[in-house]
Amino acid sequence: MASSTTGPASATALPDYAPVPQSAYGPALNAQGYYVGTVERNLHWVTDGSYQCAFLTTKDGVVLFDAPPTIGGNIQRAIDEIAKANGVSNKVTHFVYSHHHADHNGAASLFNKNVIRIGHEETKRLLLRDNDPTRPAPEETFSDRRTLKIGGERIELAWRGTNHSPDNIYIHFPDHDALMLIDIVNPGWAPISMCNLSEDIPGYVAAPAIALEYPWNHFIGGHVGRLGTRDDITLHQQYMADMDASIRKALVSVDPTPFFQKYYDNPWAAVSALFDAWTDAGAAPIIEKYTGVIAAADVYTRSTVFWVMESIRLDLGFASYVHP
Ligand SMILES: [Zn+2]
Repeated sequence: MASSTTGPASATALPDYAPVPQSAYGPALNAQGYYVGTVERNLHWVTDGSYQCAFLTTKDGVVLFDAPPTIGGNIQRAIDEIAKANGVSNKVTHFVYSHHHADHNGAASLFNKNVIRIGHEETKRLLLRDNDPTRPAPEETFSDRRTLKIGGERIELAWRGTNHSPDNIYIHFPDHDALMLIDIVNPGWAPISMCNLSEDIPGYVAAPAIALEYPWNHFIGGHVGRLGTRDDITLHQQYMADMDASIRKALVSVDPTPFFQKYYDNPWAAVSALFDAWTDAGAAPIIEKYTGVIAAADVYTRSTVFWVMESIRLDLGFASYVHP
């Protein structure tokens, strides 16, 4: 029977969550579903409420940073809007990849005509490997640092080690007081699943401190509907530090013995139940402390706790037990 009140997929079966603080939201979207704003001077950002990209209008054309497919055709509309208002070229001449992921760059092929693509050498390797026509590999690459000087503007690209992905770079705009670093901190919001689906957790945890080494006041994080501040980064660091402490406490205080006694003939059942118990114990105080402080802390903390816990165990060797 089709009913709004029955069945596992009905809306009433979905859990309720704490209200999202108003400060977590950004500006309203226009009728086409995007917002374009000025970061500083001729550096602009575009959002659809979930994803972000950025562009710089220069005297020689537009430099675009990322092309999320959810914003898609609205990226050029946003550029057209700003270019028209300022009487400058709307032609994208340069495209910079923050990293290779399709959710941030699956509309890269929309900017295919006479565009110079720039990215980290690992971005090129991964894009050639993955062979997705929506993300053409960059022609111009760098290994550690590269300064772009385009149309009189300066952009500093840096690879500072693996974090969210092996190829994620820091994009600093020294003359625009801005830093773009994707998929590390979601300003005002908790990371989504497992540290924003990050591969290298020690690298992910270290990245915000590297971001703060740069001078800037505007943060382009790639997600959510607003830009970030230095305070957003600090709050995220505090959240992750509290999480680390809580997980370490859980790992040494939850006794594995009963799980292996109950499931003595099925070790995977024991491991699964133990992982759940560690995760629950680690997550509970963090959810309590940060609900109402960081949006969706009650939605996503548990998932991130699980992934950080596995990194603390497997990367750092914490609470590792050597059989006597
Ligand atoms: Zn990503």
